[in-house]
Amino acid sequence: QTIPENLAATAERFGDREALVDVRAGRRWTYSEFRRDVRQLASGLHRLGMRKGDRLGIWSPNRWEWTMVQYATAELGVILVNINPAYRGHELEYVLNQASIRAVVAASRFKDSDYAAMLDQVRPSCPALEFVVLFGDETWESLMSEPVDSGVLAEVGTGLEPNDPINIQYTSGTTGFPKGATLSHRNILNNGFNTGELIHYTEADRVCIPVPFYHCFGMVMGNLACTSHGSTMIIPAEAFEPRATLRAVQAEKCTSLYGVPTMFIAELALDDFDSYDLATLRTGIMAGSPCPSTTMREVIERMNMSEVSICYGMTETSPVSTQTRTDDSLDRRVGTVGRVGPHLEIKIVDPVTGETLPRGRAGEFCTKGYSVMLGYWEQPDKTAEAIVDGWMKTGDIGVMDADGYVEITGRIKDMVIRGGENIYPREIEEFLYIHPDIVDAQVIGVPDDKYGEELMAWVRLKPGAAELTAEKLHEFANGRLARHKIPKYVHVVDEFPMTVTGKIRKVEMREKAIQMLD
Ligand code: ATP
Ligand code: MG
Repeated sequence: QTIPENLAATAERFGDREALVDVRAGRRWTYSEFRRDVRQLASGLHRLGMRKGDRLGIWSPNRWEWTMVQYATAELGVILVNINPAYRGHELEYVLNQASIRAVVAASRFKDSDYAAMLDQVRPSCPALEFVVLFGDETWESLMSEPVDSGVLAEVGTGLEPNDPINIQYTSGTTGFPKGATLSHRNILNNGFNTGELIHYTEADRVCIPVPFYHCFGMVMGNLACTSHGSTMIIPAEAFEPRATLRAVQAEKCTSLYGVPTMFIAELALDDFDSYDLATLRTGIMAGSPCPSTTMREVIERMNMSEVSICYGMTETSPVSTQTRTDDSLDRRVGTVGRVGPHLEIKIVDPVTGETLPRGRAGEFCTKGYSVMLGYWEQPDKTAEAIVDGWMKTGDIGVMDADGYVEITGRIKDMVIRGGENIYPREIEEFLYIHPDIVDAQVIGVPDDKYGEELMAWVRLKPGAAELTAEKLHEFANGRLARHKIPKYVHVVDEFPMTVTGKIRKVEMREKAIQMLD
């Protein structure tokens, strides 16, 4: 199937069920209305001149227009390029040129960023860029109102194939410069469907999506999971805000809630947390970075999300590779990233020799199957490095147990080598979460003359907690953590450097740490 075929089938079955709610805009669509408006916009974009294979950039925070553009481009086979809402001039120019984007559809502004002005500024240096459409401007209004040419849409539809590229998604840029993963209908539609299937989505589910659409978590595990099961996509706000999220869950009676770990941590830490009625929640997904088991347990107990699932994956694999199931034991549901997803294969290999390792041994996690991207957009060398014999190398270290459950112990790039010992910060972070004063903890390696590297912990403390020094942490950890794993340095912060997707930028932490130690 292609995305338009899938949406047509859903609209056929669930026409009068709610498809989309934009809480901020105060607007809602049934599946019939949603499909009608998607086709309206698709017809308009076709009249504007957009054709199959052309690239259209979307630059916007989470708004209903984003979702509409996602499905309208799919109707035409136009390749949607997700542009990071945090980008500024030179980054914007880079992506517009890297993907030879022909049209940009954008919000005119977001917070203190004037998108319209930035687009004007870079336009002269982006030769491929022909059209700039801003939500609500004259062109947008005409796209959304001129008569629909159903004949054209039908004709275009017959030319679409499941393996056609439909989306270029840039990776989060956690470990370096973002790469554009090129994904097909088949890649993302199946991944969205399977992710929703494993948490038993039906037309009764109402899914609160505070994670950015620009990332696969929002647009695939969120939007596509919903539209392939007839569930409702609920946009609580333009960008994540813990109170707005919980308000939306309560007001819209959501059954499912998404977030990267830091989002759940922020929600649970609200001083008015108990005032929100979260009784309708049943399930949800935590993913994107290591999910602390203490946070998982709290989400289950305090947020009523008894069936919450952890997903592990990466943009390049559309994204989900493993997922916990609702009938897994509690320990596995909070302590592993689950088992391989339907119709996929995974293996753990020696990162140096590439040899497949027996169960129980840690090595590089690899994925094979329908979800592996077509490649990095116009970067054949990087593609060839990343995909070997159909296996996508993730750069993550994992261990698989005898029953197939996987634990991700860290990223190869984050590994710290202290005095010849390989240490994965993840293990120490998990330990630090136990400390009664610590809200959030991140551990990095910093250069050291004697040991090569030493560990540094960055911690966020509970309000009113006493200062946490390296000595006090040592006392706390002594006897519970191997001596070489106790961080030598402790740095208390209010927040961590983050990507728009809510991931901690350890590269930036390391740069800052090196300056601090100088
Ligand atoms: P870049 O590749 O640009 O450095 P990135 O890898 O963070 O950025 P994404 O594709 O958004 O960009 O994220 C995929 C990565 O996120 C995985 O490789 C893994 O390191 C991490 N990740 C995702 N889900 C989980 C999870 N459940 N547990 C641990 N790590 C996870
Ligand atoms: Mg990556």
